[in-house]
Order: sequence, then structure tokens, then C-alpha cells
Amino acid sequence: MKIVMCASEVVPFAKTGGLADVAGALPAALEKSGHEVIVVMPGYKTVHAKQGLSIKRVRDGLSTATIGKAIKVYFIDHDFYFGRDALYGDKTGDYIDNIDRFSYFCRRTLDLLKETGFQADIIHCHDWQSALVPVYLKSTTYSNDPFYKAMRTVFTIHNIGYQGLFSKDEFPKLGLAWSFFGVDALEYYDQINCLKGGIVFSDVINTVSDTYSKEIRTKEFGFGMEGILEQRRESLFGIVNGLDYSIWDPALDGFIASKFSCQDLAGKAACKEDLQKICRFPVKKDIPLIGVVSRLAQQKGFDILAEGIDRMCRMSLQMVILGTGDAKYHDIMESMVKKYPKVISLHLKFDDALAHKIYAGSDIFLMPSRYEPCGLGQMISMKYGTLPLVFKTGGLADTVDASTGFVFAKYSADELLKTVKKALAVYQTQDKWKKLMEKAMRRDFSWAESAKKYVQLYEKARKKI
Ligand code: ADP
Repeated sequence: MKIVMCASEVVPFAKTGGLADVAGALPAALEKSGHEVIVVMPGYKTVHAKQGLSIKRVRDGLSTATIGKAIKVYFIDHDFYFGRDALYGDKTGDYIDNIDRFSYFCRRTLDLLKETGFQADIIHCHDWQSALVPVYLKSTTYSNDPFYKAMRTVFTIHNIGYQGLFSKDEFPKLGLAWSFFGVDALEYYDQINCLKGGIVFSDVINTVSDTYSKEIRTKEFGFGMEGILEQRRESLFGIVNGLDYSIWDPALDGFIASKFSCQDLAGKAACKEDLQKICRFPVKKDIPLIGVVSRLAQQKGFDILAEGIDRMCRMSLQMVILGTGDAKYHDIMESMVKKYPKVISLHLKFDDALAHKIYAGSDIFLMPSRYEPCGLGQMISMKYGTLPLVFKTGGLADTVDASTGFVFAKYSADELLKTVKKALAVYQTQDKWKKLMEKAMRRDFSWAESAKKYVQLYEKARKKI
């Protein structure tokens, strides 16, 4: 099959979250199983500034690189739209012209296919930033062109909380007929909703875990999309993300103080010592160290964590938090560092190397997300023998159970603390802990299985007329 992967962030070029991991790893897994894949993403300034990526400028507005064996990555360049310091916005919020930036990206993606003669079977789009691709494909500009006739679209929702909402006044800029601004199209409470466009106009839709694909059809998790998803339930599926073990494997990881594996755990103690030093914690073997690598957002459980953090800091533990997000949570966590400097260490930044060190050096990985489409942190931590402690939701419910971690089922600070206490108690019985570690490290979340399911999904899309 000929497949186009269209995403706003792709590892190793640009990343703010799990989408980038998926958009980088899935093409490689598909290539391995014999499919022809190209990737299209915006050519952000940060991408061009990165060293060692071997990006070549083809012409004005287009650059390329190669990933996997021979997967061509196309970067849609545009100085004004993508020559900025960040992907989506700055401290003041989202860039106000994001609709211009990403509708441009979507149209250019489709044009590029014709320019390069890539007659795709499947265009696989991700999240609201590329959701207008299936919309444009159904507009007369492309639907009247035989080149695009057989192309089918798959739309993956990585997080339904981000929908790309814009004022109706922006609609004429999109170059779409007004009929596309109907209740059965892009319109949502008199605004443009890009994600809704992806849901309505794609041939097949999926989310990144089975549980989340069911949750988003409910009012509690659907963020207003539950009705339209219910209508499209026959075409809605769930496929849990894989993990790229060429990046996430303690036996190969160049970022960590000492490599280790399930067979030889000695290096993990060195990683813990290294992390304790980085955090300026007392270097002690037997104090449980809790790691967090996350956006500091309510979605990630920071509301209950903020509520319980003071009580948690009085337990016998150490805790390191890496991430950025809402100023409110920055402030709360900073005040805790002042109060308990030997217990909590805060790193308000995006830092890939430190993330690896936290996964490797911690004993427990805390991920109490209120909702979690799939989540990668819990899968990564398991591979590093760091037991995940999670709220039972979405992908967390599908990947963690009592044999590989700690799960709580009622979303509250009290339940979170109770579960932390339970984990600390189990930590004291080293035999039990080792067994859990071993089971967690042996869990296999490799992409091969998930890629197989995506191919089945593509087959389903191809059957749609
Ligand atoms: P999200 O909802 O943010 O996409 P996921 O769990 O799916 O959450 O993926 C998050 C990814 O981003 C993981 O690979 C995690 O290690 C990484 N990550 C998150 N925050 C940071 C950070 N501050 N520094 C480095 N990596 C981070």
C-alpha cells in the first residue's frame, strides 16, 4: 500500500507530545512490513535549526529528509507561518493565526502528492492540525481531480480535548464552499471546529486505545464530539500505540548513567543514584523515588496531585517532576520545593535527556491522568522497571494492571494518596517488588502489533466508497 502520514509533529524532527512518537514510529513499522510510506509535516524553524537531521532544501517551500530505510519526509516550509520559535503558540497562548498555518499545511500536503506523483491509497491524518486534509479532499478542488479519486483517509484522534476551534469569520479564508460550514460539517456552536471536520469527512476514524475509543462516545469524555462520534461508531476504532524500542530501551539507552536489562538490573541502581544527584536529594538506595514526566495540566492529574502533594511530601519518599504547563501548577510545585527541598525536585522544561534519566532512575512512575487517550509514559516506565501508578482510564486502563503497577479507580486526591501509600508498602517487600518489576519489564508494547492493526484499518478505509 502507498501511505501518506500527515502530522504536525514527528520524532525526531519536532515533538511536544505522544503524537510525535506515533507519527515517527508508525511509518517505520509500516515500511518494515512492506508498505511504501511518506511523511508530511510543517518545516518549523526549530526543525531546520536542529543539528544532524540531514534535511535538504528541494526548492522554495519544500525540504526533505529520510527516516527508517527509505521513508521520505517532506517539510512544508513557509517563513511566516512556520519560522517561529514554537510549534503552536507562545507564553501568551496559541498563535492567533493557527487556522491559516494549518489549513495552509493541509492544502499543501494534498498539492504535494500531485506534484510528486505520489498516488496514495491512504492518507493518514492526526489531530486537528491535519484534520482539514479529509475535508479538502471532499471539496470540489480535489474531488473533481481524478488523481485524488481513489485516495482514502484515516483520521487518528490523539486527544479529543484539542479541537482547533476558530471564529466563523475565518471561514472564507479556508476556500471551502459555505456548505462545509453546516451542522453536519465543520460548524460547532457557530465556530469552525477542525477536529469535527476530520471526524465527519474521514473514511475511518480511530483513537489510540480501545477504552478511549469507547469513552469519547460519552458526555464525560467526548468534549462535545460524543454525538457525532456516536453517529460514526461503525467507523470508529481503537488501536493502542506501540513504543519505539530503538529509543526506549534501558539496554541501549545512551542518555542514562548505566545501561541495564531485565536479566541484569545492576545498572538501575546507578541510574537512581545519578538521578538523586541531579535532584540534589540525599543519595539513598532504599528510599522510594517517584518520577513524573508530563505536561503540567489538569488532564494529567495535576489537580488531584496539587491537592495531595503537601501530604505526599510528608511521606518517606523522593519525587522528581519534569514538565511544563499551566502557570498555576508551576507555582504550586515551586512552593512545595521551597517547603520540602530534600523531597521534591522540579524541572520546568522540556528535556529529552532528563526524561530518559527519570524513567530509568525512578522506582515509581506517577501518571494519575484524569483522562488519557493512550499515554506513553506508563509504557516507557514499565520497560525501565519503574512501576507505573495510574488512574484507571483510557490507555492507562488498557496497559497497566495490578501485576505490573498500581491502579486507582476513583478520581480523587485521597485515592491517589492511598495508592501511593500502598505502593510504598509494597516497595518495602523487595521480593514482591522485584516480581512486579520483572513482569512490567517483560510487557511487550512494540509497534509491530499495532502497525498490523493499522494496516487492517487502512484495508477497511479502502473498501469505503
Ligand atoms: P501527551 O498527552 O503529552 O502526548 P503521552 O504520554 O502520550 O502524553 O506522551 C508524552 C511524551 O512526551 C512521552 O514520550 C514523554 O516522555 C514526553 N514528555 C512529556 N513531557 C516531557 C518533558 N517535559 N521533557 C521531555 N519529554 C517529555
